[in-house]
Amino acid sequence: MPGGQVGTGVANSVRVSVVQDTPPSVPDFTQWPSFPFEGDLHVKPLDEPVPVEPPRRGEGHRECTACNAPDEAYIWVGERWRVRAMDRPTGLPMVLILESRSHLDLGDLPNLLAAELGVMTVRLERAIRSLDGVARVHVNRWGDGSAHLHMWFLARPYGRLQLRGTFLSLWDSILPPISEAQWRENLAMVAAWLAEFGGRPLAEPPRIQWQAPSSFNAQAAGEAAREPEEEPVSVIEAADEIPETEEAEGPSTVKPEKAATPEKAATPEKAATPEEAGESQAPRQGAGSA
Ligand SMILES: [Zn+2]
Repeated sequence: MPGGQVGTGVANSVRVSVVQDTPPSVPDFTQWPSFPFEGDLHVKPLDEPVPVEPPRRGEGHRECTACNAPDEAYIWVGERWRVRAMDRPTGLPMVLILESRSHLDLGDLPNLLAAELGVMTVRLERAIRSLDGVARVHVNRWGDGSAHLHMWFLARPYGRLQLRGTFLSLWDSILPPISEAQWRENLAMVAAWLAEFGGRPLAEPPRIQWQAPSSFNAQAAGEAAREPEEEPVSVIEAADEIPETEEAEGPSTVKPEKAATPEKAATPEKAATPEEAGESQAPRQGAGSA
């Protein structure tokens, strides 16, 4: 540009920068009852977009957590699908991950697996929704951390209207964890439910004494929740970040032989076929509008 415009340019840039420094207004959802936070909020500045995204786990040179995980790291395994839990209880009554055995991402599934994904999704939703105190099961797929298909199933506690909708995964990290015993019972029930259709349940009902690290049993649930975790993870990140380090001996895993059918789990009703499942879940009211 000609030198004569320098002055103008400076003036313009100042004006522009004033505009840019004005933080974007906080979106309306921060006013929703379901939004977990209050107080002064401001929007983070966005980083510059990277020209090339880094490989996810299971991509490029990075090892795949799912492919390396033994069946014992799961609560239920079948021929082509596996279901895993978190490594410990969290705030929601149940958080589970459905994975394909094959190293494929969602868009790569051949028709057989794609169809089965639908069946498994419905089946798992029903199993989780059958748990006491569960109103709804949110199903999510993010996939930013791992290239291996993994679908999230998050149970919303009945009556907790404030947890409806988008922010459920955040609330999972905010609420005090449910009790270890309840968590294990829930896992066993879901595993047994799935096993009604085949595969192997690997989660067992809670025993009087769980041989987990004493810290687990000793800590009151609420207490544990308030302590800053050594590794603060949201549900979203948990899928991508937790299993890698802890799946090797996740407390949710048990010997296959012990896969007993818990008393309650024997009541998967007449949830026989996927078709029926689809119908019977319809009557419930629509998703939270949050
Ligand atoms: Zn994989």
